This record gives sequence, C-alpha cells and structure tokens, in this order.
Amino acid sequence: MLICGPCSAESEEQVLETARQLKELVAPDYFRAGIWKPRTRPNSFEGVGEKGLAWMQRVQDELNIPVITEVANASHIEKITKYGFSAFWIGARTVANPFSVQEIAEAAKGGKFKVFVKNPTNPDIDLWCGAIERFKKLGFNEIIAISRGFYPFAETKLRNLPCWEIPIELARRMPDIKIICDPSHIAGDTKYIAEIAQQAMDLNMAGLMIESHCCPHNALSDKQQQLDPTNVKQLLNSLKIKSSYVNDHNFEIELEMLRNKIDVLDYQLLDILKQRFAITNEIGEIKKVHNVAVLQIERWKKVLESRSEYGERLGLSRELVAALFSDIHKESIKEQSDDLNIR
Ligand code: PEP
Ligand code: MN
Repeated sequence: MLICGPCSAESEEQVLETARQLKELVAPDYFRAGIWKPRTRPNSFEGVGEKGLAWMQRVQDELNIPVITEVANASHIEKITKYGFSAFWIGARTVANPFSVQEIAEAAKGGKFKVFVKNPTNPDIDLWCGAIERFKKLGFNEIIAISRGFYPFAETKLRNLPCWEIPIELARRMPDIKIICDPSHIAGDTKYIAEIAQQAMDLNMAGLMIESHCCPHNALSDKQQQLDPTNVKQLLNSLKIKSSYVNDHNFEIELEMLRNKIDVLDYQLLDILKQRFAITNEIGEIKKVHNVAVLQIERWKKVLESRSEYGERLGLSRELVAALFSDIHKESIKEQSDDLNIR
C-alpha cells in the first residue's frame, strides 16, 4: 500500500499538481494531505481548514485517487464525511489522548471508514493498542497501524527513532492489524527516507506513507522531509522488496535446520544466565555478611569495558554487548538488594 501526498494542503494548485504528478509517476493507493495541522508551537502554519477538503475532493473525483487526512476531533469527522472521504488517520499527538480517540471513533461509527492509527510519540505500546481497540470495539474492521517513529529525547540524525521492536511487538499482539511505515516523519530529512523505507520493507511492513510535495522547497510544513514526486518514484524503484514466504522445499529444510541450531543456542544462553545469577546471588550473600554495598561501581565499569572489548573482537557491536550487560547487571543489583531487604 502506498499513501503519498504533501504534509499539508496549501493551495488548490499545489494539491492538484502534486496529486497529478504522483498519479502519473507512482499511482498511490491514497492521496494524503493535512488539513488541520497539529503544530508543536502556536503561530506555525496550522493548515488551511475546511476549504482544503474541497481541493482533496477534486483529487478524488477528477483523478480517481481515494483521499485521506488527519482528524483530531468529532467535528473533523463530520467535515470529511461531507466531502466524501472514506479514510482518515489519527495523528501521533491525538492517539495519546484516549478521550479524543473515543470521541473520534464514536463520531465515525457506522461511517464505513478505513482507519489508520499512528503510534503515539512516546514509546507506549499499550496506548497504541488501546486506540486500535477503541475502533475495533465500535465495529471498525479496516484498521491499519502506521509506524511513524518515537520522540528521541536527544539530538539524533533522525527526527524520530524507529524503535522497530515496538511495531514488531504490535504485530505479535495484533496479528490481524496491518502495519505500514511513515519513513518521512522518522527521517525528518529527505536524505534518510530511503534507508528507513528499506528497513520497513525488510520487516515485511505492508506499505508506506511518504510525504511528497510538487515544490518541496516552498512547503509550509515539514519542508526538509518532503520529496518531489520524481524522487518518490526513484525511491520506490530502489527498494528491494522481499517476500515473507517462498514455496521452495529445500529452502524450508535449510531454514528449519538453522532455526534448530538457534533454538539449541538460546537454551544454552539461558542455562548460562541461570548459572551466572546463582553466582551473583552468592556474592550478594557474602556482601551482606560483610556489610558491603550492593553496587560496586569500579567492578561494574571493568565488567562493562572488558565485555564490550571482547565482544568487539568477536565482531559483536559494542552497543549490543553494553545493552545486554546493563540489563544483566541491573537484574543482579535488583536481586541482591531485594535479598538484603527481605531478611
Ligand atoms: C503528518 O502526517 O503530517 C503528521 C503530522 O504526522 P504525525 O502525527 O505522525 O506527527
Ligand atoms: Mn508532516
């Protein structure tokens, strides 16, 4: 599934020209444009409002591309209904507010809308699932999740962190919900969109929502991350799309054998981990007897450094090894402290 169009509808010409080019070059399944823009600070461009819906209706009627926009309250639903929309999305800020999600779901109920639910900006999987459940409960059966990245809390090259483990967990919890990716809002800059889109395809996501503007340098919102339609076409051509399934017996056998090996190693890892915790608990006991603090920062620094270094020599990334040992160490400290406080 491909959803494409500008961050915001800005003028009738911009909407129609962008849609025309996109139709010719990439034939999107939906044409997107924001009508009401949730801006972090006031006095930024907040969207053209209702008149933009009429421009989008022209795209739908004259170019035959279904249109989609962001809604944030019940009155938006009323308005998009008037202009013949059959789909809407809930934005990352609105999805974090269960009152708003419920209000939108109730207003849209019975309207036969296809509903797209973006993840909230904070990495709270329950909030994302909860919004989807609110629509499910009201009988919507075409719900699609959009993975748009998470607020990074620090300076990063990407505008939002993909945190792929979160959409993967959503797929595990809700196997009937398709997930598409919005690489534009993850990237925040046109230079990173292709790599994020490729990662989404490697994870077998069901489609992409890509921001595209006929003149990106004149865009009134998200200028840095909008591709012109020609660049969208180029990006799509560059994607390597792998299938999740092949009907090849030899491949199946080979995969099965390799997975069996992984299974064996995973259980060995757990056995070793169990032995390791038995020893840290013993250390906890003697620390208690000798009245020594649980956290020994110098020892922890040495463990972290030596394991990261050894891992690196084996070709494992320092980040992975550091993250792994931080979790193990956290658990050891917790167990030793619990033990100290119980008795
Ligand atoms: C958008 O799609 O233009 C948008 C505002 O998205 P998000 O809610 O993901 O920030
Ligand atoms: Mn945008």
